Order: sequence, then structure tokens, then C-alpha cells
Amino acid sequence: MVVPLYNEVEVIEEFHRRLVAVMDATGRRWEVVYVDDGSRDGSAALLQALQQRAPNAAVVSLSRNFGKEAAMTAGLDHAQATDAVMVIDIDLQDPPEVIPDLIAGWQRGFDVVYAQRRSRAGEGWLKKATAHGFYRVMARIGGPVQLPPDVGDFRLMSRRAVDALLRLRERHRFMKGLFAWVGFPSLAVPYDRAARAAGRTKWNYARLLDLSIEGITSFTTVPLRMATWLGLVTALIALAYGARVVLMALFYGDPVPGYPSLMTVVLLLGSVQLMTLGVIGEYLGRIFNEAKQRPLYIVSEHRPSGLSDAPA
Ligand code: UDP
Ligand code: MG
Repeated sequence: MVVPLYNEVEVIEEFHRRLVAVMDATGRRWEVVYVDDGSRDGSAALLQALQQRAPNAAVVSLSRNFGKEAAMTAGLDHAQATDAVMVIDIDLQDPPEVIPDLIAGWQRGFDVVYAQRRSRAGEGWLKKATAHGFYRVMARIGGPVQLPPDVGDFRLMSRRAVDALLRLRERHRFMKGLFAWVGFPSLAVPYDRAARAAGRTKWNYARLLDLSIEGITSFTTVPLRMATWLGLVTALIALAYGARVVLMALFYGDPVPGYPSLMTVVLLLGSVQLMTLGVIGEYLGRIFNEAKQRPLYIVSEHRPSGLSDAPA
């Protein structure tokens, strides 16, 4: 189990209790890797205390908050399981009780078994609507790599799927996209998404919008293509309008009253140019960040579980 967490002191104990109950019932050898993503609320101390009495728990602490995507990658890097790895949120929105269903899917031979939300409790209509819109856009531009809708990071992956995923070391990590890119036979298991057990979501709309732009730009270059088309369409309109102005002047001696139309054209073209520059800049920034070749995260401390075979 890979569990990224950031400032989750209120839920760690309860999550661990429910996880142990579910995992012990499966009768398998298991380990949970808690990735402390630079928490500042005492989560680290709590994890240390928990580890004293939980032989199954490993803790990877990152040197600062790197974001969920990086934390998840750190967890996958440190997971030692040879059969399968699962990723789950700590806030109990992904109910641990779904885990046996994921394992059942894996036993049927699927490499990737993802939990698909049937409903989203505790989330407003706006979040639901924006999420829906995002999946619609992604479906249209995704080509052969399709994001399954209403799927989060809660999933099980076979060892070979994890190894494949870990070969993708890009810095801009849009995990849903990376999961989808890797492929392999996949199965969806429906579940009801619970409301957060305690604490607050770390996401707000600005961050979600960022994530969506991240998703689109690390997934496809369609926006660049769209910029080209936009330019083409405006050029055609400009040509037609220009012809009209010239003809009016030639045949009717009509100088065409200028200010309003000029203003409209200047503003419209200006904004179209700025927008396309923004799109190009988005990709340029991406190239800049990849070119630096920085590590995805920095580990400040790794405390393996009691089950681990390898020394720390
Ligand atoms: N998380 C993290 N680093 C971050 C933000 C979130 O590791 O910078 C973890 C968080 O502790 C939780 C999971 O990612 O286990 C999902 O976060 P959250 O519940 O805030 O997101 P939501 O469920 O609202 O999408
Ligand atoms: Mg949550």
C-alpha cells in the first residue's frame, strides 16, 4: 500500500486501524508505505509513534512538500511488494473496504484495477461539474490514451505495471495521464466515494485548474495545434474584412468609419496573440523544467517496515 499524506494528523490513526483490519483479513503478506509529504502538523511524530507498534508500516519522509504526485512516486519507488502495489488516500475518501475487490480483480489477471467513483459524497455541484467537464475535454483530445472518467489515484497495479510506470520520470507528473499511458489490461471496480473523515482538502479551484492545465499540456500538444488553427481562422476573417474595406473605399468612396471597428480588431487580435503566446509559453516552461533534470523529490528519512528484507 502506498499512502501519500500531507498534514493529516487527524486521520492517520483511524486510517491505519481500518487498513489493518482489511489487509489482515486478506491473509496476505503486506506492507504500507506512508509518504510524509513535508507535513508540518505533527503527522511525522504520529507516524513515528505508529511505526513502533505497526510492523507493517514503512515511512518515507520528504524534505518538504512536493505535492501528491511526487509523494506518490516516492511511495511507489520505495514499495517492495513483488506482486502488486495499491495507492490510496489517507483521508478515508477511498474506503479501505474496497481493497478486497481490487485484489479480486488482480487475481482475475488484470494488471491495473482502478476504483471508479459511482458517487461523490461531500463535494459540491461545482466541483462535480468541473470534474465532469475536465474528463469530457480529455476524452476528446486524448487519442489512443484515454483517461477513464471518475477515476482517482486509488488503484491496484501489478508489479510489471508499477515498473513500467516508474520508467516515466518526467517532472510534470500528471499521474492519471501516466497511469493511462502505461496501458495493460485494466478493470474498473465501482465504489461510492465517501466524504473526508476529518481535516480539509488540500485542493482549491486554483490548484485544480492548475492540475487540469498540467494534465492537458503533459498529455497532448493539441493546444499548440489549436493555436495554429485559431491563427488560420483569424487570417481568413481578416482577409475577408480587409477586402470589404478596400472595395467599399474603391467603389463608394466610403472611408468606413474607423474607431469602433479598429478598436475591436486591435483588441481581438491582441488577445488572440497573447493567448497563443501563453500556450507556447506553457510548453516552453515544461521543456525548461524537464531540461533541468532535477530529482522528482528529496527523501529526508526512510524508515523501512519491520517486514523489509533489505537494509535501509
Ligand atoms: N496529499 C499529499 N501532498 C499534497 C496534497 C495532498 O500527499 O501536497 C495527499 C493527502 O494527504 C491525501 C491525498 O493526497 O492523502 C488526497 O488529498 P486531498 O484529500 O486533499 O484531495 P481530494 O481528495 O480533495 O482530491
Ligand atoms: Mg480527499
